[in-house]
This record gives sequence, C-alpha cells and structure tokens, in this order.
Amino acid sequence: MQLLSPTAKYTLTGMLFGLLFPIASVTYDLSFREYPFTLEGMYLLFTYQPLHWVIATAPFFLGLFAYFIGKKQSSLEKHSKELQDKIKERTHYLEEKNALLFQEVSQRKQAEIHLRKAKEKAEEGSKAKAQFLSTMSHEIRTPLNAMIGMTGLLIETNLDEEQQDFVQTIRMGGETLLTVINDILDYSKIESGKLELENEPFELMEPVEDTLELLGKKAHQKGLELMYHIHEGVPAAISSDITRLRQILVNLVNNAIKFTDKGEIFVSVKHLGIADSLHTLQFSVQDTGIGIPEDKIKRLFHSFSQVDASTTRKYGGTGLGLAICKNLSALMGGSIWVESTYGKGSTFHFTIKAPAASSQETYRKMSIHSFKGKKVFLLDDNATNLKILNIQCERWGLKTEQTTFPLRALEILSQEHSYDLAIFDMNMPELNGSDLAKKVKENAFSKNLPLIMLSSAYNTDNEEDKMFFSSYITKPVRAAQLFHAISKALSSEKSAPIPVKKKADTLEKPDLIPLRILLAEDNPVNQRVASKMLKRLGLQNDTVSNGLEALEAAKLVPYDLILMDMQMPEMDGITSTQEIITHFSEHTDFPRPLIFAMTANAMKEDREACLAAGMDDFISKPVRLGELKEILVKWFANEREVLNA
Ligand code: ADP
Repeated sequence: MQLLSPTAKYTLTGMLFGLLFPIASVTYDLSFREYPFTLEGMYLLFTYQPLHWVIATAPFFLGLFAYFIGKKQSSLEKHSKELQDKIKERTHYLEEKNALLFQEVSQRKQAEIHLRKAKEKAEEGSKAKAQFLSTMSHEIRTPLNAMIGMTGLLIETNLDEEQQDFVQTIRMGGETLLTVINDILDYSKIESGKLELENEPFELMEPVEDTLELLGKKAHQKGLELMYHIHEGVPAAISSDITRLRQILVNLVNNAIKFTDKGEIFVSVKHLGIADSLHTLQFSVQDTGIGIPEDKIKRLFHSFSQVDASTTRKYGGTGLGLAICKNLSALMGGSIWVESTYGKGSTFHFTIKAPAASSQETYRKMSIHSFKGKKVFLLDDNATNLKILNIQCERWGLKTEQTTFPLRALEILSQEHSYDLAIFDMNMPELNGSDLAKKVKENAFSKNLPLIMLSSAYNTDNEEDKMFFSSYITKPVRAAQLFHAISKALSSEKSAPIPVKKKADTLEKPDLIPLRILLAEDNPVNQRVASKMLKRLGLQNDTVSNGLEALEAAKLVPYDLILMDMQMPEMDGITSTQEIITHFSEHTDFPRPLIFAMTANAMKEDREACLAAGMDDFISKPVRLGELKEILVKWFANEREVLNA
C-alpha cells in the first residue's frame, strides 16, 4: 500500500532539497570564503555571489513545480481510475445485457422452431382436412349419383302418381345434398388457397342477367319482384372470372329471396373509380326481407355462421355462402359488407377490380341512342321497376311518359296519340296488363299502338291475352331482349296487323326425345346454369362433379349424352372420355353415350385435343342457349323419326 501519494512525495523531496541546499551552500561558502559567520556575512555573500541564491532556491522551485506536476498526475490518475471504473461498470452492464439478449434470441429461436412445427402441423392438418373433405365428398357423392341416376330411370317407368311423387322427392333430396357437398368442397378449395381465378373478357350484363334468370322462377313463386340496373359509367365488358362473379351474385340473390317474403329484390352495379386501368365496380343486392339484427352482422361473413343457428330454424343452408362470397370478392381485389335494418331488409354490397374489355357488337349497338325521338309510354305498378325501365329507355334515346296506375294509363292513352309504343306490366292491381291492352285496342285512336308486355313466365297466362302484344317478355327482363322487342315494335308499320299471334320471345323447345343427359362439371354455378338451360329446352340431366364420377355414372346408367367439362379435380374430361370409350369397347350392355366437351378453353388446339380423345362435339363456354339447342338438334333431332319409324 502506498503511504504517500506521488504529489506528496515530490513536494516533500523538493522542499527538503530546497531547504538543505541553501543551508549547505551558505555554510560551505561562509566556511571556505572570507565572509564572517554572521548575518552580515550572509548578506555579503548573497550580494556578491547572486548565483548562490538561485542555486540555493532552485530545488525549492523544482519541488514546487514537481508539486503541480504531481497534482496534475494524481488528478489524471484519479480520472483514469474513474474512467476505468466506469468502463468496468459499463462492461458489466453490457455483459449482463448480452446475456439477456442471448437468452432472448435463443428463446425466439425456440419459439420459431415451435411456430414452424405448429405451421407444418397446421398445414398437414389442413391438407388432411382437404383430403378428408374431398374423399368424403367423393364417397358420399358416388352413391348419391347412383341414387339420382337411378331415380331418373325409375321416373321413366310406369309409376302411379304417388310413386312418381316419392321418386321425385328422393331425387330432390339427393340434389339438395349435392349442393351442400359442393358448397363444402368449394369452401375448402378456397381456404386452402387452391382456387385460381380465370381472366376472360365478358359482357358485364351477362352474369347479372344469368343470375336473375336462374333465380327468377323462385322469386316469382314467392311473389317477389326481381330487378336489376347497371348504372351509367360501368364498362360494358370487363376481363375477370364470370363464373365466380356469378357465384357471388347467385349466392346473394338466393339469400335475398330466401329471407324475403314480400316486396322486391334489386340488383345494381355502380362504377366507383379507376386506378392503374383497373375499374372498381360495386355490386349491390337489396331486399325487403327480414333484415339482420345489428349484433349478428359482424359474424355473418365467418364460415358456418347463421343468424338463427338453432336446430329449429326456419331457413335451410350451411352458413358457408357468405364466407365463400367474402373470399371470392377478396380474390377479385374487393370486399363485401352489409347494411341492414332488422325487420325492414338488407343490402349486401361487394366490390371487384377489373380492367375493361372490348364489348360485342350487339351490346355496343344497345349502348348508343338507337331510338332517338320516339315516344314510349311505360306502365308498371312497381315504382322501382318503372324507374329502371325509364332509365333504360332514355339511355336508348326514347322519350318517356310513365305511371304506376293502369286506369290513369288508359285515360292518357285514349287522349294522347303521339306515342310510338307502350310497355305494360302484366300483374297489376285494378286492371291487369292484358285487360288494359284489350281496352287500348278497342279504342279507335290507340288501336294501332304497338304494345310490349312484361310478365313473369311462370304465370299461367292465357295465350289469347298475348295476342294484343307485339312482344311478350318474361321477367326478369334482359336488356338485349327488351332492346330487340322495342326495335321490332318500332320498325313494324303502325298499320301492320296487330295483334301478333305468336309469342316472339319465348324459346321454342326443340322436338327432342327425352334424352338421358349426364353433366360432368365441377363448378356448382356452372352446373346450375347448364341444368337450367337444359330444362328450358325441356330436358333433364344428372350431374357429377368430376371425370371419375362421370365414368362410374356412365357404367351404371345408359346415358344418351355426356356434357363433359375439361378441367375437373380427380380426373379431367379428356382422361374420363378415354376411359369411358375404353369401357364401352369392352362392355356392350348398352351403347356408348355421345360425349360433348363443354369448356372455357376455346382455342383450336383444345378442340382438337377433345376430338382426338374421342369426344363427339364441342361447346365453348359461356354456353349460349341457342348454341346448345343447335348442337342438340344437330345430333338428336332425327332420333324421334328414327324412333317412330
Ligand atoms: P346460408 O344461407 O347457407 O345459411 P350464408 O352464409 O349464405 O349461409 O348466410 C349466412 C346467414 O346470414 C344466413 O343463415 C342468414 O341468417 C343471414 N343472411 C344472409 N343473407 C341474408 C338476407 N338477405 N337477409 C337476412 N339474413 C340474411
């Protein structure tokens, strides 16, 4: 241990030498030179030997200097010690922190490993779930298809009325079950990210009108008005996935019909804006139904969620429809939401983003002012319908007058003769459309006025009534149909013989023998569309969802025709066709069905691939009713003659 600090040591030494030196030198000089050993002697010494003074006091000043140096040194040392202490402290602190960090990192790493393991497990689980769902749905669907196919055959046998009823009920039950299974499969496909959207151009009106046509009967059976309106500014054609867009619309309109007992359902499309050549379109489905309580709205778009989830609930369904719609609209770059007042009705909105595409000639023609200056009188007791009709007519350049009261219409038409055309709704209170038409035709002034009738196709209307009209359009009205009817009415001479005898806008059913048709198509909406089209042609079909099921069904039931989609899970259309052809080359219990490809792959190579696989013909999607009819007539119209021969 140090007894003295360096400063003290230097100082003491300096002081010591500072004192000893003068004493020694003075003593020496006084002794050896001739100065007396007195104060005077000392004075003389210092006066005559000044260097002595300096030499004698120098150590003292050196000591003092050393003192200051020592002090500085000690303060430096102190500072350095403090610094060292601080560094030590800091190092210690950093070491502690480092240890903590290390601990945290290793904990994180651990968590990451856990997470990855959990993710892998979840993925495995999800895969297993998807696998389970697909296996399960296949296992359920196979016997179900046999059930539906066989009941189809059974219906054709000699059954009494009661037995017919039983068989129909079994068939309907089977079909409902198929829809549920389709919903579940579709949802699991979306959830596992396996769904890929198509991107093809189509007329926007098409999915909207298809939906209304598909569900029109259901709405009219409940006495509901079903209408649509496409606002100004919406591109006539877009590039997107028509099937999936139609699926959302079908789901929402179907729900609207299901949850509405009285009133109307109104579908509209609005243009919200454009960014980077992508148009944002908002579709809305408004109903006057039961509405949704506010506290239930949040959960609505979750899977398996229903407002009334009790087992005694009144309305059926899986609770998957809205969850599917939510996912589909998100895939299309949009979102879905609902506004609802409990007890009054709901409006479901969804948006999509899509680029505009070029429109077909017929639709372009419809969008310009085609009937400029002509005057039309509109009558419909439903104000919304009347408003849409009015906007549509004005868009085509027609001048319009309108009323919701039939008697008022009669009064106006018997006094005012400047109208070129009148459009009447059929079902109205006071006076229905056909009675009103009769009265208009009885009046000498208005007897030559062309009339168009709008009516639900599902009324049992008297054929005679329709004679007063130049065209008879079934609701929900398709814009192209209305355009065609107005063109026809305006081009006919005013003095031309009216009434027109034949109903112009209903499709003639071809004279086909009751064909046994199997539809192999994996998309539920496409299934419904194709089935509806066949139904309109007076034909029935069974439906399977993939190539494997088509093969199994074809072995079981003697189908006349298989309409085969190309891309399907489990087994695609081409493989299925090849398998069916191979089967029938070895088994001859009944003849091989014809196979027509029904596919969105419309390229020449696709067509060639289908024909090379052994398919007999090709229908490209979206399927048009006229084309379907044409191709069926081409292949089957002579069969009746052959059969009757
Ligand atoms: P599902 O109709 O098959 O049960 P959805 O997912 O389509 O399944 O609908 C979920 C629930 O949302 C329905 O059960 C119903 O309670 C409610 N909902 C849907 N649409 C409407 C509507 N237009 N009006 C009232 N409630 C509705």
